[in-house]
Amino acid sequence: LEPSLHTLITFTPELALRMAEDADRRYRAWRRADSPAEEALPPLLGIPLMVKDVLCLKGVPCTCGSRILQDFIPPYTATAVQRLLDAGVVVLGKTNTDEFAMGSSTENSAFGATRNPWNPAHVPGGSSGGSASAVAARMTPAALGSDTGGSIRQPAAYCGVTGIKPTYGRVSRYGLVAYGSSLDTVGVFARSAAETALFFSLMAGHDPLDSTSAREAVSPITLPDEPALKGLRIGVPQEYFIPGMSAEVEQAVRAAIAQLEHLGATVQMVRLPHTEYALPVYYLIAPAEASANLARYDGVRFGLRAPAERLWEMFDRTRGSGFGAEVKRRIMLGTYALSAGYYDAYYAQAQKVRTLIRQDFLDAFQQVDVIACPVAPTPAFRLGEHTDDPLAMYLEDIFTLPANLAGVPGLAFPAGFSAAGLPIGIQLMSAPFREEILFQTAHAYQ
Ligand code: GLN
Repeated sequence: LEPSLHTLITFTPELALRMAEDADRRYRAWRRADSPAEEALPPLLGIPLMVKDVLCLKGVPCTCGSRILQDFIPPYTATAVQRLLDAGVVVLGKTNTDEFAMGSSTENSAFGATRNPWNPAHVPGGSSGGSASAVAARMTPAALGSDTGGSIRQPAAYCGVTGIKPTYGRVSRYGLVAYGSSLDTVGVFARSAAETALFFSLMAGHDPLDSTSAREAVSPITLPDEPALKGLRIGVPQEYFIPGMSAEVEQAVRAAIAQLEHLGATVQMVRLPHTEYALPVYYLIAPAEASANLARYDGVRFGLRAPAERLWEMFDRTRGSGFGAEVKRRIMLGTYALSAGYYDAYYAQAQKVRTLIRQDFLDAFQQVDVIACPVAPTPAFRLGEHTDDPLAMYLEDIFTLPANLAGVPGLAFPAGFSAAGLPIGIQLMSAPFREEILFQTAHAYQ
């Protein structure tokens, strides 16, 4: 499938084979032991995993979908990846992504676009499109992603798989190449809520290597045997059903909510009144933080260096030839918003509105346990459909950005299909650190 889908930037067959042989040796030793039950095997021993190419794995290139990091080999491993390695996974490769995770279609990768396995004329979503496509195509049971404004949930919806964007701070960002540091989260795609929950719970938890890592304890996630949701209060925000969204998406999401009600949940309307500001606020804060984070790619410290006579010329040429168009657009937006005289009007103002958006969610979670809504306004669009229109591309994120601005967790999972046979997803959000209730609800539905 790989030649037609292009899910990977780096395929690591030798590494995978070595890890698989290790797993096999461990398993055989365990079976030979006198009292095999005494020494438990690691929970994911021998299970394949793909890793989005914005997460570091020692000794394997980490390109972030960019020419500027084409030859960068990280000397360390991201905490999220390390915890899964400790749990026994076998890494198959590093998955394709929009350059520095900026995009909603995986078309912004310097190494070519990924395709949607349900229809290769369509995008898999993005920026974690390689991971979502690979899980949907059953090339791997699970794959890691990152979500700054929807990059796990939207591709999960477009590809018909399950994906979790954890609470901000829940999974360590150590070893995740920074995009918008106050929004970035590390999460995972798998085939079901139950499998996604397993990977998530092994990655989550405090990490002294990430100063924004949360200290909240992580308990193992228990999933109900019975698909019953008695007592669960679901809120449906009217602001997430907007004119211009696809009727098929609205129908599928409303039908899934009716099914959750049938399983015993109560459904009520909730209000998230500042939703309309999420898009402009996000597209100020994310580029502002990105412009600062991307200043480090100067040709001196990492990856690409374009030769030149003078230092500034070297910076110019390296950044000019190393970054793609979307990344340059974000750096310009971000540096503009942060410049002297504009900072208060743009960045500082956006931060204030962000607080109002977060407060909307905290208020809503006084009344309900879970918010249910669409993931994206349309099913997967065609390759090239939005490439000349950045604003149309940004609109795909309208229902996913608020969770990142508020720091709350979001889970996307399949709710149906369009008439054209493309998957449609539904999104559940909860109060911070209540991922378990998202998994329980989706598991009951599945
Ligand atoms: N599409 C959004 C952006 O381009 C979100 C991407 C992400 O979550 N990494 O910024």
